Amino acid sequence: MARVVVISTGGTIASRWQGSGFAAEAAGRDVMAAAAVPEGVTVEVVDLFTVNSSRLTTAHQLTLLHTVHEVLADPGVAGVVVTHGTDTLEESAFLVDLHHADQRPVVFTGAQRPLDSPDGDAAGNLHDALLTAASPAARGLGVLVVFDGRIHAARGTVKTHTLADDAFADPSAPRVGHTGFGTITVQRRPERPQPLPLPAPPAGPAPRIDMVMHHCDADPVLLNAAVAAGARGLVLVAAGAGNATPEIAGAVADAVAAGVLVAVTTRVPGGTVAELYTGGGAVDLAAAGAVLTGTLRAGQARTAVLAALLADVPAAERPELLRRLTAAHHPTAAAVPAPAA
Ligand code: ASP
Repeated sequence: MARVVVISTGGTIASRWQGSGFAAEAAGRDVMAAAAVPEGVTVEVVDLFTVNSSRLTTAHQLTLLHTVHEVLADPGVAGVVVTHGTDTLEESAFLVDLHHADQRPVVFTGAQRPLDSPDGDAAGNLHDALLTAASPAARGLGVLVVFDGRIHAARGTVKTHTLADDAFADPSAPRVGHTGFGTITVQRRPERPQPLPLPAPPAGPAPRIDMVMHHCDADPVLLNAAVAAGARGLVLVAAGAGNATPEIAGAVADAVAAGVLVAVTTRVPGGTVAELYTGGGAVDLAAAGAVLTGTLRAGQARTAVLAALLADVPAAERPELLRRLTAAHHPTAAAVPAPAA
């Protein structure tokens, strides 16, 4: 029998009607009661949190990260499933992936419909997640997101639909595989950077990391306000392939000079950010000291900034570490059009 440990954190998969809307309420054993457990798998449940994932904090995520490591300290465990709200699943899964040095799979899943809905998707997703976590074919793939019969690499995967069953994808890369007929099929082995050591729990509050989105008319007011509020990290969600304005590039240079770690991603769903444009574009943002985050989108760019800030390296090395953690991770996304002659 393959022993799989399920870490329950809440989300829609644990949610019930509260009279005015749904909220996480069910304990892990109630969530697991909804699952069809694949043959040959035994399940142990760790009840970690019962929260909807839009309310998660860095403290929750670090507790989850440490719990995954504690569970995997038992060599008899074949794999781990984390049940999680879908709203910020991509952030927690990526944080665990960045620190995952074990061959055994850690599989995140959830549901789009609440636990007791008659047409719910919890049972199928749990079945597929357990199957994947127990499968030798999933070893060495890092942290995975299993949802609606699809297997995705945690890295690069985002929530792409608010309500549909098929809620996750990496818009810049093919999926890792799929489940079906009681088995898993792996089509791609994700590229991952060297995993980071487990960070020590922060002595004080978690570092403040803000996100600012660019738009027509955007000025540096919010970016400067984040720095004034004590941000140690900033994610600029730029336009296009990573472009903003000369004024924002100036504010980024000031933030970097003040010791803030700045990452640049984009509002566009797919493709890499790239140093193509000046006049406030990614060329100038990079020259100002910001790190372009490849094909990672805002939530995961922020997670990478968090990991870089928590890593035990000198401050001067953090931009380089962030670059390593966020480098475009597959050839097609990394392919940048040649500059016009
Ligand atoms: N809609 C969310 C979910 O699917 C709620 C949450 O993220 O907790 O789980």
